[in-house]
Amino acid sequence: MKRVYLDYAASTPVDKRVLTAMAPYYNERFANAGSAHWFGQQAAAGIFEAREKLARAINTTYEQIIFTGSATEANNLAIQGLLRQLRGGAFKIDGKPRIIISAIEHQSVLKLAEELARQEEIDLVYLPVNHAGVVEISKLKNLLNERTVLVSVMLANSEIGTIQPIGKIAKIISDFRDSCFRGNDTGGSNKSNNVVYPLFHTDAVQGLQYLKCDVEELGVDMMTLSAHKIYGPKGVGALYVKNRSWLKPIIMGGEREWGLRGGTESTATIVGFGVAAAINEKMRAAETERVLELRDHFWKEFKKILPKAQLNGSLKDRLPHNLNIYFPGWPSQDLAIELDLMGVSASVGSACVAKVAESSYVVEALGYKDDRATSSLRFTLGRPTKKSDVDFVLEVFKKRFE
Ligand code: PLP
Repeated sequence: MKRVYLDYAASTPVDKRVLTAMAPYYNERFANAGSAHWFGQQAAAGIFEAREKLARAINTTYEQIIFTGSATEANNLAIQGLLRQLRGGAFKIDGKPRIIISAIEHQSVLKLAEELARQEEIDLVYLPVNHAGVVEISKLKNLLNERTVLVSVMLANSEIGTIQPIGKIAKIISDFRDSCFRGNDTGGSNKSNNVVYPLFHTDAVQGLQYLKCDVEELGVDMMTLSAHKIYGPKGVGALYVKNRSWLKPIIMGGEREWGLRGGTESTATIVGFGVAAAINEKMRAAETERVLELRDHFWKEFKKILPKAQLNGSLKDRLPHNLNIYFPGWPSQDLAIELDLMGVSASVGSACVAKVAESSYVVEALGYKDDRATSSLRFTLGRPTKKSDVDFVLEVFKKRFE
């Protein structure tokens, strides 16, 4: 039976070139990268090269890359690491530090921020999202105050693929910092030890494959990345941080990753991440164009089969591989199972919640009053997807809906 995987936003297969580069680090270059001897230095050199490759991909230098065990951990490091540093007195605040996030962040940001708010550690404020799935930047200025230590907005959404105006948000934050400085340079200023708050973090996990993630152009202070969304291995992520002294570790142990993460480095997966990032940079432009053409063909033909279906989120400000479709009246769980049995593997929401979710918190956050959040499926295309695969999926839809 033919099967088509359309869940590349959940995970991608490891590129063969990446696997080949990783293999030696499981045997002949197996040593602990923390060891001073020749064997250890072979492993350390692999990590150094990967750090440089990843840094190049996002236009920074190797000193600004911290490898982690996942993007989930990188998001936790960005938020908790910053709060730990602040608790050490890095920034004197009257009251609770404010963190601003969008309501459509990945669960690793959302759940953490909500838990911190529940424990009364932070004052959590949401930046609203419009019907099209894009944050309302006009509201940001009024949410920023002198207690705001962090704004975290993802580059592209995992469920609906909408691309957020990161550059514009960075400009609003930078103007706010400047205004605080000018008006309030003595006592209560939001500048401390050359750190100017709020910091701006973006989770670029879904964006890296198709969007240029130049940290300078985007104007971000921290950025989260993951290997398994760009045809690299699972179990490795990274946090870009402009200045490492802004953070404290959240995983205590040996002095790895500039003292910001304990635990022996996973050499092979880190090496794989570096190679996957380098390949991705070379492939991005052509792959974006190819996938966009397939996705547009998919949507155009699909609309003929089920005209009452609607797209969740803007088509214009959207990753090229993503279609998140509202099937009015069809419970998403049932439909996902039915389609899977017919050979089409899509997902309900994002992978982290898909097995249990009956409702999408992202679609809910767009403010619809109908049953959209419980009747939507995500289809994401990838490098292996061919036109014949899309046509097969369209045939399955015809069988099911016509
Ligand atoms: N952030 C976003 C936007 C994601 O889509 C994901 C994975 O789905 C993550 C973070 C978590 O990535 P990881 O699986 O590396 O923890």
